[in-house]
Amino acid sequence: MFNKRIKIKELLAQEPAGQTVTVMGWVRSFRNNQFIALNDGSTNNNLQVVASLGKFEEELLKRITTSASLKVTGTVDASLGKGQKMDLNAISIEVLGDCDAEKYPLQLKNRPTLEYLREKAHLRFRTNTFGSVFRVRHALAFAVHKFFNEKGFVYMHTPIITASDAEGAGETFRVTTLPLDGTAPKNEDGSINFKEDFFGRTTNLTVSGQLEGELGATAFGDIYTFGPTFRAENSNTARHLAEFWMIEPEMAFYDLEDNMNLAEEFIKYIIRHAMEHNREDLEFLAQRLADEEKQLPQDKRSELGLIEKLEFVLNNNFERITYTEAIDILRESNYNKKKKFQYEITGWGMDLQSEHERYLVEKHFKKPVILSNYPKEIKAFYMRQNEDGKTVAAMDILAPGIGEIVGGSQREERLDKLEQRMAEMHIPAEELWWYLDTRRFGTVPHAGFGLGFERMVQFVTGMTNIRDVIAFPRTPGSAEF
Ligand code: ATP
Ligand code: MN
Repeated sequence: MFNKRIKIKELLAQEPAGQTVTVMGWVRSFRNNQFIALNDGSTNNNLQVVASLGKFEEELLKRITTSASLKVTGTVDASLGKGQKMDLNAISIEVLGDCDAEKYPLQLKNRPTLEYLREKAHLRFRTNTFGSVFRVRHALAFAVHKFFNEKGFVYMHTPIITASDAEGAGETFRVTTLPLDGTAPKNEDGSINFKEDFFGRTTNLTVSGQLEGELGATAFGDIYTFGPTFRAENSNTARHLAEFWMIEPEMAFYDLEDNMNLAEEFIKYIIRHAMEHNREDLEFLAQRLADEEKQLPQDKRSELGLIEKLEFVLNNNFERITYTEAIDILRESNYNKKKKFQYEITGWGMDLQSEHERYLVEKHFKKPVILSNYPKEIKAFYMRQNEDGKTVAAMDILAPGIGEIVGGSQREERLDKLEQRMAEMHIPAEELWWYLDTRRFGTVPHAGFGLGFERMVQFVTGMTNIRDVIAFPRTPGSAEF
């Protein structure tokens, strides 16, 4: 098996027994011209490298500065010092890359803020916080594939450039090669002639792979997508990105309840995977969050620590209520003046604002909530119409601290009902002929959902801003790196 070097995480798990190893990494600190804390990104724990006094040239020692990269070969022995189980007693040290201490931007006395680190795309990965966040993100992504693979789902790659906007799932980014200087070909009425554009039509970056995913599900049975989605929504919030990753499973023969069961099992599965494989990182993030919350007034602090919160989610059923029940709870709370909302509870039919969702999750139930059967007027055309004629078989999952984390539904599989709803909503059926074909040739009941991956990573890592759980955040006015 090929191994360039031993990873520090793996080495630290071994017993020190005089073995000779080669490690490579970056210097976190260098004390007493003798003790190097070396980190290679595999864990937040550093390896203590001992450069015995007198053994190495002064010239070499001078180059061992914070963040310089090293290759060290040595023998592993039980540490004489406190705080670590082993030392790597260096036989040879090679500086692979120097780091000018004068110019190094993270030589700050105080812990750099998350905002500051966002401007240092490269070096923020070297901090403990982001090391933990991105290793947990990896674990969650890996668990997504593992979960669906174990259940026999087919991983489908739906297009990134599309002519469909999933009918209003979000504002789109236009994709075009036409010139922007006014010389683009025009129609007789003066509008731009997109027939001359690259694809011979207007195209945009995808906002969701769902409609394409349904074509897969109605052939392969169960599929999932896991890819980037783009929304040009001008909402500068701590839970919206212009480019984010979405997981969209779609299941043939599922109804709304099956859909909820799968979504709940899925969320618990990926959390459990991270808890089992990235315990250290989660403990670090839990401590970080606890420290951060110490700055807040008592009533703004979380009741549970991060680990306790995740354990609580794993060990309890999500609360399941209908939209109608939610409206009653919200109305009640407003009457009692237990809570005054910025957006009034006007009554049945209103769209819920995130403050309402958060009240239900954080104050009323204090656990994740699955809200179902929304009024059809506030939901998409493809959701299955319920017998009452007023609601559709939609379900959203709301998570404490985040709000909406999943949006899904049972889909309308009956062609006549679907066409009728599309007509009511002025959705051009001709353009979606390929989608409607799924209802023409052996249609089946089916359901699916979309989980915003970054919101999930936020939930698991406890990071308050979504920009801190994606490597290169894209938000209004910001696309650096
Ligand atoms: P919200 O009301 O929070 O804007 P939405 O109703 O627009 O969400 P959907 O269209 O149902 O969301 O998208 C599915 C999932 O994708 C959401 O549940 C959420 O987890 C995630 N999501 C939606 N918009 C964004 C965004 N701009 N940035 C990050 N994740 C998002
Ligand atoms: Mn939205």
